[in-house]
Amino acid sequence: MRMDYQLLIGGTLVPGASTLEVVNPATGRVFAQAPRADEAQAEQAIAAARRAFPVWAALGYAERGAFLERLAAAIEVRAEDFARILTLEQGKPLDQARGEVAASVSAFAYYAQQQLEPRVLRETAQERIVEQRYPLGVVAAITPWNYPLLLLAVKMAPALVTGNVLIAKPAPSTPLATLLLGEVAASVLPAGVFQTLTDANDLGALLSRHPGVAHVSFTGSTPTGRKVLASAADTLKRFTLELGGNDAALVLDDADIATIAPHIYSGATTNSGQVCLAIKRVYVPRGKVDALCDALAELARAAVIGDGMVQGTTIGPIQNRTQFEKVQAYIAEAREQGTIVAGGAPVPGEGFFIAPTIVRDLPDDARLVREEQFGPVLPVQAYDDLDAAVAQVNASEYGLAASIWTGDAERGLAVASRVECGTVWVNRHLDLPWDVPFGGAKQSGIGRQQGVEGMEDFTQPRIVNMALV
Ligand code: ADP
Repeated sequence: MRMDYQLLIGGTLVPGASTLEVVNPATGRVFAQAPRADEAQAEQAIAAARRAFPVWAALGYAERGAFLERLAAAIEVRAEDFARILTLEQGKPLDQARGEVAASVSAFAYYAQQQLEPRVLRETAQERIVEQRYPLGVVAAITPWNYPLLLLAVKMAPALVTGNVLIAKPAPSTPLATLLLGEVAASVLPAGVFQTLTDANDLGALLSRHPGVAHVSFTGSTPTGRKVLASAADTLKRFTLELGGNDAALVLDDADIATIAPHIYSGATTNSGQVCLAIKRVYVPRGKVDALCDALAELARAAVIGDGMVQGTTIGPIQNRTQFEKVQAYIAEAREQGTIVAGGAPVPGEGFFIAPTIVRDLPDDARLVREEQFGPVLPVQAYDDLDAAVAQVNASEYGLAASIWTGDAERGLAVASRVECGTVWVNRHLDLPWDVPFGGAKQSGIGRQQGVEGMEDFTQPRIVNMALV
């Protein structure tokens, strides 16, 4: 594996002040060194971003869009390098890593075509009132380790097209895809428009506090999101927080189990369950529990668990040791409190592997049901009364997303309308088109990404109120 990753600061690729070790979760061993930026480099990046901002902001949407299109094309040229790096640092199977790269390219290509138009609020012979949207300035994108490239792309593309400049700060355990994006962007974007800083969990707070940063776009855990909110308070920074979730799938009594089981299984185990929007609990009418558990168990037993670089792997490792140990602890507790119908046993090998695990008959207050466990583990909970099941779905500090499974979409809509979440899917889960806004209710987040709202989050409204006499 190459060892020459560099930071992109002020248009130049530079070494870090020190280094970070990057572990391959499929082996548990260090496979690469990444640069680690220090505070002085963070200050340099913020200063360079501030210099670049007025020039970038003064370009029109069409010109900025053309840069994004060139960037999308440049990523595509390196697509296989990006995919391999994602598999090595994150663990996901190579074909899923290729999917992440393709989705990231499509985000840049999509936003390259978008723009926010001024809105006319009132127009008469005497007056005209319009709302314009102008960019905020320097955006810090602080990202987690589950989708290192995609979660950066969904911030970077709308932030840049609306005229902001952006500093990316990836999670310390998955810095390489972001660094490679810096390398690719260095020859495409003007100096300072996009920069990369990698850290050991110390620069996120600096960026969130810094008066030179106008907006923090954060995706990560709810406890860290609270810290970002606190750090941003002093300067009244704008922010977008995409935080944790404990998404429920609610199966209605008219659902066809054989049809829905594969969708529920993939909604729970994609990326080894390390998705803020993964299905993390299922509520099923009591009479259908056996059928759903049998179908899910069959899918779980067919999983091919292993190194994502090996052709045919369907479930890669958990991304890091801390998370691996956490998921194991949830499974150990679930074994005491309920019945494991598939998985649960340790997977041989050095990597951080967890087999897809289906659990039934847990008490509703079990930690696996109540907390965000972020692994390929799914508790199946029986219900007798739909109102009580809806209450269970809503009995969470989180409110990211949920899904309703039914043979009757109208009935699905009626139940969806009672669920306290940012997104409720009916007969699907994890569908996130670029033109549809997405974000959390309750403690799952503040603000929206994607859609027009997601672009607006990176701008400030300005009302221009004109008397025409
Ligand atoms: P996890 O707990 O799942 O490892 P976090 O939500 O803490 O992940 O991390 C998400 C991102 O937030 C990472 O890039 C991490 O470095 C960053 N981060 C960690 N602590 C802070 C902080 N106090 N302020 C801002 N960002 C932080």
